Amino acid sequence: MQTLKDLKALTAFLKETQVLSSAISLLSWDQETYMPSGSGQARAEQLSALMGLVHERQTGKEMSQLLSASVDLETGELKAGSSSGDARASALLREIWRDYHRATQLPSDFVRRMGLECSLAHQVWIEARNKNDFAHFAPSLKKIVALKKEEIDYLGYEASPYDPLLDTFEPGLTVAQIAPVFAALKEMLVPFVEKIAASPAQPKDDFLRAFYDEEKQIIFGKKVLAAMGFSFDAGRQDISAHPFTTSFHPTDVRITTRVDPHDLLSSLFSSIHEGGHGLYDQGLSVADFGTPLGESISLGIHESQSRLWENGVGRSRPFWRYFFPILKETFPDVLKGVEVEGFYAAINAVRPSMIRVESDEVTYNLHIMLRFEIERQLIEGDLKVDALPELWNAKMEEYLGVRPKTDAEGVLQDVHWSGGAFGYFPTYTLGNLYAAQFLNQAKKEMPELDARIEAGDLLPLKKWLNDKIHRWGRQYTSGELVQKVCGETLNPKYFSDHLHKKFGEIYRLE
Ligand code: ZN
Repeated sequence: MQTLKDLKALTAFLKETQVLSSAISLLSWDQETYMPSGSGQARAEQLSALMGLVHERQTGKEMSQLLSASVDLETGELKAGSSSGDARASALLREIWRDYHRATQLPSDFVRRMGLECSLAHQVWIEARNKNDFAHFAPSLKKIVALKKEEIDYLGYEASPYDPLLDTFEPGLTVAQIAPVFAALKEMLVPFVEKIAASPAQPKDDFLRAFYDEEKQIIFGKKVLAAMGFSFDAGRQDISAHPFTTSFHPTDVRITTRVDPHDLLSSLFSSIHEGGHGLYDQGLSVADFGTPLGESISLGIHESQSRLWENGVGRSRPFWRYFFPILKETFPDVLKGVEVEGFYAAINAVRPSMIRVESDEVTYNLHIMLRFEIERQLIEGDLKVDALPELWNAKMEEYLGVRPKTDAEGVLQDVHWSGGAFGYFPTYTLGNLYAAQFLNQAKKEMPELDARIEAGDLLPLKKWLNDKIHRWGRQYTSGELVQKVCGETLNPKYFSDHLHKKFGEIYRLE
């Protein structure tokens, strides 16, 4: 018979494990921001020692003893009286078991082999991209695909071998759920992109690549972050090669950006994007730190928060009605003669591009469709790694009307596969779909929201997200959360409607 004392001992153990994990995150953050270039070897040893400790705590005897007081370790079934009928306590145990089960499903020998192969493959991928030579990366990628198939055997599946890979990043999501949604989205987007390209109303946006002082860009970005409610007492913004967000605790959330003096949008929108991630992490429950109830639900929900702020707010007209005059004061010379309407159209220009991370709100998801389809064929079918560059380029031409001339601007552009992150890409599109659905719901509940944003007051939206999404941690699955917040499950209609309304107006489409 287990008791409340057992649950307390279990959560205390988890919190201590999380403190160690936070130290790993801090060392990793430092590696990307301030670490001297000669410290790589020493840092790798520090990280690997701490990771070993954390893995031992997550899967070891102490953990299994503490958890088995409340949960059947084999099936995940709660033992009688373990949650006393309390929904939050039973969700807590469900999620703790989920993590434990996943961590123990993979033999440690396999985890080591995968870790080693990925760290080697990462180096090879960098070389291959620099040399613009997929053949250099192909042998590594073949090994990783084989290891992923081995991993799938350990994890097991019912309908599709791709399901356990999706489940890693978006718990509960299956191919059967998402494939029809993505197929319909693709069918809508391809002709929509063609229509936009054929429109005579093309925004003029060359002024975005004039000279913008880097320091002033950062100061302006921080003004926007402060208006969003990002707390600089509980977070920082620093510079890194690739923008990211990491969190050590809800009171210590780090976001990064990069600045290009000839690209006004790069730093600005990465700040807003990472700021959206940061607000989620700052909005998690401090009392539940270290347990699943103090963690974000999934990558898709996390991405919905960054996309909602970046695209739903940061690329909207009400936002710039307030912020454009401030931007103009910051850069009076370069923006002389630019009006808010012209600026709004310029930052929303749609241009099919080779590179996913540089693409706009409309074409972005086609880059994801392509990757999703290729990953499925690699995992479910018998697509050969050597055939990837040609298939990639053919799909780019079919979906976006552009064909990469080199592997570097085609199949080699993303880091994900070198790290074994198959099943990750779909969460980006999922984030876009959730974001549009959440924002639609927020506007329904707060009809004055656009007027508030136009007055520079972004806090009502931040508070709504804190209340509806952030504070719950992993009490609900992503599907349950969307149902709870919006009264329906994932519905791509809101994203589709948003694109048609916004870009139909900018490009004067019928
Ligand atoms: Zn993101």
